[in-house]
Amino acid sequence: MPLSFQILATGANTGRARRGRLTTPHGAVETPAFMPVGTLGAVKGITPQELAAAGASVMLSNLYHLALRPGVDAIERLGGIHAFTGWRGPILTDSGGFQVFSLEGLRKVDDGGVSFRSHLDGSPLRFTPEGVVNLKERMGVDVAMVLDECPPWPIERSAAEASWRRTLAWAQSSREAWRGNGGGLFGIVQGSVFPDLRQRAAEELSQMDFDGYAIGGVSVGEPGHDRRAVVEWTAPALPEGKPRYLMGVGYPEDILHAVSQGVDLFDCVLPARNARHGVLFTRGGVLRIKNARFKEDPRPIDPECGCPACARTSRAFLHHLTRAGELTAAVLATLHNLRFYLDFMGEIRQAIELGTFEDLAARLASSSEEPASGLEPLAPVTFDPNEQVRS
Ligand SMILES: [Zn+2]
Repeated sequence: MPLSFQILATGANTGRARRGRLTTPHGAVETPAFMPVGTLGAVKGITPQELAAAGASVMLSNLYHLALRPGVDAIERLGGIHAFTGWRGPILTDSGGFQVFSLEGLRKVDDGGVSFRSHLDGSPLRFTPEGVVNLKERMGVDVAMVLDECPPWPIERSAAEASWRRTLAWAQSSREAWRGNGGGLFGIVQGSVFPDLRQRAAEELSQMDFDGYAIGGVSVGEPGHDRRAVVEWTAPALPEGKPRYLMGVGYPEDILHAVSQGVDLFDCVLPARNARHGVLFTRGGVLRIKNARFKEDPRPIDPECGCPACARTSRAFLHHLTRAGELTAAVLATLHNLRFYLDFMGEIRQAIELGTFEDLAARLASSSEEPASGLEPLAPVTFDPNEQVRS
């Protein structure tokens, strides 16, 4: 079954924001939606059941990591990616372009693809646009991302243009290789912080008629105003009736901004990675649970949250577990942060339907605690295989 996308509402006072539904072979995704990142097939620290209970309707996974270990042959023999991981909802797989291109010194790009060495054992591998599409079809993913080249920031115009040209050619090869037996294929707009490259890529990809379109090459260390500008140049240039996905973003403020520009899908390691560092998102702003002021704080993490952690765990207990380096601290914090992000997306969807989207943005701006955008970035600019950057 191919993908289909319906726009259900474009409320008043919501800019270009839209409330939609992406239907996939493994169920529907109500948009705007946040896709938790399960790099190796699971979101770190929690079970597939807990992920579903938190309200996730789609999980993101990473071809680069799965192709290295356990390998696509093994996943195929075990019945495909859904049977293998136990996640029954839709799965989107990134190609690993971001990971591969961060393997400085371990990779070599040519017009046909990218050759690299595994960060695990040094074994040589090669990704081509056609090969990546084939691997994803064999795994049975619901949404496959094309292979792209994700340039670093900052980058010279000439280098950005060469990479941009190659990414467009790869998109064309991917589109031709896609058999469309199940799920859908998304193209990826690159072009760094150059508006004309972004707009031309959006136009050329639109003509290739993908099932959806992603804005890539952001969250690579650029300042927030550049990231927002890229979204403003690109999102309106993409086809109205297809889903739009902003890759690797981000903070709640960035998500709200992108939704206002008509973006439908998001993924980011922020909620889960911050959870493992004791940084919790709440409706009042960000809490650093290791802080001494939480030592005897009997309140839940966020009194308005309905997650399993907030139902029973005090800030004092989570402070204690986090300080002690107890595994359970990461589990509870991850359950909370994911639920926060997923609830936040639910509030966005409702606000678009009700025409109250601007109120949501105003409320976020008036949070009493530290704003999330004030967090020092936890995402390093380059790929550290042990810390797993974008996805
Ligand atoms: Zn909670």
